Amino acid sequence: MEDNLKPYAASSIGSKGRVYDENKPSERSEFQRDRDRIIHSSAFRRLVYKTQVFVNHEGDMYRTRLTHSLEVAQIGRTIARALGLNEDLVEAICLAHDLGHTPFGHAGQDALNECMKKFDGFEHNLQSLRLVDYLEKKYVEFPGLNLTFETREGILKHCSIKNAKSLGEIGQRFIKNKRPSLEAQIANIADEIAYNNHDIDDGLRSKLIDINEFCNLSLANSESKKIKKMYPNLSSKQFINEIVRRMINSFVNDIINNSSIIINEKNPKNINDIRNFTQLIKYSNKYSNINSETKEFLHINLYQHSKVRKMTDKAEIIIKFLFKKYSDSYKLMPKDSCLLAEKKTSELGKVGGSRIVCDYIAGMTDRYALEQYEKLKN
Ligand code: MG
Repeated sequence: MEDNLKPYAASSIGSKGRVYDENKPSERSEFQRDRDRIIHSSAFRRLVYKTQVFVNHEGDMYRTRLTHSLEVAQIGRTIARALGLNEDLVEAICLAHDLGHTPFGHAGQDALNECMKKFDGFEHNLQSLRLVDYLEKKYVEFPGLNLTFETREGILKHCSIKNAKSLGEIGQRFIKNKRPSLEAQIANIADEIAYNNHDIDDGLRSKLIDINEFCNLSLANSESKKIKKMYPNLSSKQFINEIVRRMINSFVNDIINNSSIIINEKNPKNINDIRNFTQLIKYSNKYSNINSETKEFLHINLYQHSKVRKMTDKAEIIIKFLFKKYSDSYKLMPKDSCLLAEKKTSELGKVGGSRIVCDYIAGMTDRYALEQYEKLKN
């Protein structure tokens, strides 16, 4: 099942295990089991109605968090397989990496973080972990999905030191400044490759990004010249598909080639070495620059675009409105959330109830949040 892995790859046999002990799966690796639990979770199904950049109801052509997560997993698996690392673990982390995202993308997250400022804040990575550790209610024998340490470690990409201190072993690397497995490092970079390139793709197709301006970027420039020479009569749709395809491919190849050079130099013997080294999954200098150039371009031309800003401004209003309403009256939430919020408030004070309100809002899809907003406003 996990034959031909490099000695420094994560493996089922070397896993630090699950919080609640379980029998070994008979036909699957531990990480395949994690992946399957993630796919069967209700948070995973809700990703289809959560925004990446474009609000879900703006059109069926754009990425949602679900299609984004699938693209991340595809890119991550390619890199993992080429480097002899654990593809199943990478897939599990990639599919789970955005589970904790709020409705309305980053705008929603920032708004919720602001609402929670007095109550320990809101971090989407931490929320993804909270979901798989506690909030999913699927199994009779344990709360959450009871995933392996390695999958949970990969899900918790960032974490403030303050929050890390309350997380036990999973938080230690942030306090001790250590690295996660190479599989987690791959999932992280696959996320970046996926969203940079599909935001370009969605931006070009929606015409919010001007194709000529885009073709001034260094990588796009050289690839567009090659494409135009080979296929002078492409439609703009075909051209966009071809250039995005080539860009993803070149980023993935760069990661594979550059990381394998670094791994050979460092010569890790096992996964402990990986945790003690600096990050080994990295772009070459050339692609690191191309990556920064792409991000800056997207920031100016897409994320700050007036049409996108209009959506993000509305998102902020909706999230803050809902947070205030539910905080003022827990009864406006479904019964189980209401009872839990009352219980937590009596145990911990306002901070306890606010966290339940925050969980409830974070779990909403874009359209559900919009519906609730319209309903409560009237
Ligand atoms: Mg992502």
